[in-house]
This record gives sequence, C-alpha cells and structure tokens, in this order.
Amino acid sequence: MKKQSILLTTLFVGFVLCVFYFSGRQEVFAQKASGPERPLVSRTSSSTRTEASRSSAFAAEASANSASRAALAWPFGGKMQRGWEIYVPLISHTIGTEEGAGTTDFAMALSKWQGGKGLPATGVMDDATMTAFVKHWQSQRLGRATTPASDALMSAPIADFWDSGRDANMLQLERETYVAYKRMLAEAAKDLDGQLRFTPDGELAPGEKFLRIVSAFRSPEYQAALRKREPGAGRAALAKNSPHFTGQALDIYVGGEPVTTKDANRLVQAQTPAYKWLVKNASKFGFYPYFYEPWHWEYVPGRLAK
Ligand SMILES: [Zn+2]
Repeated sequence: MKKQSILLTTLFVGFVLCVFYFSGRQEVFAQKASGPERPLVSRTSSSTRTEASRSSAFAAEASANSASRAALAWPFGGKMQRGWEIYVPLISHTIGTEEGAGTTDFAMALSKWQGGKGLPATGVMDDATMTAFVKHWQSQRLGRATTPASDALMSAPIADFWDSGRDANMLQLERETYVAYKRMLAEAAKDLDGQLRFTPDGELAPGEKFLRIVSAFRSPEYQAALRKREPGAGRAALAKNSPHFTGQALDIYVGGEPVTTKDANRLVQAQTPAYKWLVKNASKFGFYPYFYEPWHWEYVPGRLAK
C-alpha cells in the first residue's frame, strides 16, 4: 500500500512537470505565430527558463536569416535585388539590436518589428519584410526636390570636400544643413577617434577622406547639363527630380568608390566604421539615409527630436 502511494505520487509529480514544460513551449510557439497582440516575452517565475526557450525558439529562424542574407531575391528600383547583407547595419539599427544578422536575438527583434508593421511575425527575412523596411526608410526622407531661395545657400570651404580640386561653383549647400553637418562631425570626432584621423580641435585631419562631402547642392540646370553631356551616367545623376536640388542632401564619403551603386562597392561601404557610425548617430543631427546609397544623407530638420 505504501509502495503504491509513493509510485502514484511520483507519477503525479512527473505528470505536473511535463504539463508545465510543454505549456511553456506552446506559449513560446503561440507568441511567434500570433504576432503583435501577445507580448513577445512572457514573464514567468524563472527568467532563466524564459531566456533559454526564447533563444532556442528562434534558432531555426536565425539559420534561415544566415542563409538568405546573400541570396534573398526582392524587388527594388525596377529590378530584382540579391541578398540584404548591404543593409544589415540599417536593419539592425531600425529593429534595435546590436547582434549579428544570423543570431537568435536578431531574429527575435525582427519578429517584433514585423509584428509592429502588421506583417507575419516570423523572425525570418523575406521580400515582404524588405519592402516594408524600404517603405519605412523612404518615409523618413525629405520627400521633395524644390530649390531653396538663393540666400538659403552658402559655399562651404573646399577643405570640407572629398575632392580638393572641386569646382568653386560646386561647393554650395543649404545653411542649416551645413551647421548640422559640422555639429555631426564634432560628435564623430569623439566617437571615431582612433578609427578616423581628427585634429585636436575635432576637425577631420588633413588627408582624412572619410565623412568629407562628395557632393551637395546641385541645381536643376547643372543636372540637366550633366544629363546632356553624359547620357550614360548613373540613375542619380540623370534624375530629373533630385533631392540635391534642395541643398539639404549631402553625399558623404563612406569608403570605396564614393558614389557607385555596384553591390560589391556598397558592401564595402556598409562595413566601414564611418558608415556604421552615421547609421547609428546621423538622425540625432537631423540626417536620414537613402538606404540604397550608403553615401547619400538628407537633412530633414522636421524630424529632429525637439
Ligand atoms: Zn546623393
């Protein structure tokens, strides 16, 4: 009789433990399937157990992301793009993680962002998610290409430009944009000291190419002349409606060929400390990126935190 009751107690305890374990697992899967309505991380009595099930729950998603970062096909600009490696710094910043694109933390942060955008919160990158990122980034831009009044423009010193032989007529930009750019450089001097060369008073050192201005204000007339002269030039140069007309768009040197859209070049740029710093910090100074061109930043003062 006593043996029997010990056996029954053992069975009962085992049963309770099983139920507890499997209900925990289901909770994790249910969160992944159901998107934003449920909190992604539930509070349980043991946070260690939650951490463990969280990361193991996203292991498959993390390896799917690892595999697709060089291979995913998604449409942009009238053609199919391959992979999303170039955009990892921007994506990571947007979803708020510092972890690599093949990690479970990244997959978890991605699923949360997807849920917030009304997408299936899979934690796996796909073409619909890339399209949603593009829409989000594009919505932060100037969204107009009107030319400023002539007194809103100024000429920056040639020393601020990447090309020290640049035409004296090509040094103009909008005044506030220049002030914001210089303020941003002063901050970069603190954070990137040791990676880029700065003078003791926080200016880019002579010979330092990174973060200098490649191109700023371009007039519609100049753009039209360029179109006539070089019909084979890139899409940006041929644009009839360029954000550079505003004087608030800056092409900033972030490595490689300064303004070449070949994937291999953009991948080099996306991995430089200068670019990664801009991704994390430029918005504090009112600058927002054109995601497709790592060098192109637009001053959008209306978006500055008050
Ligand atoms: Zn540009």
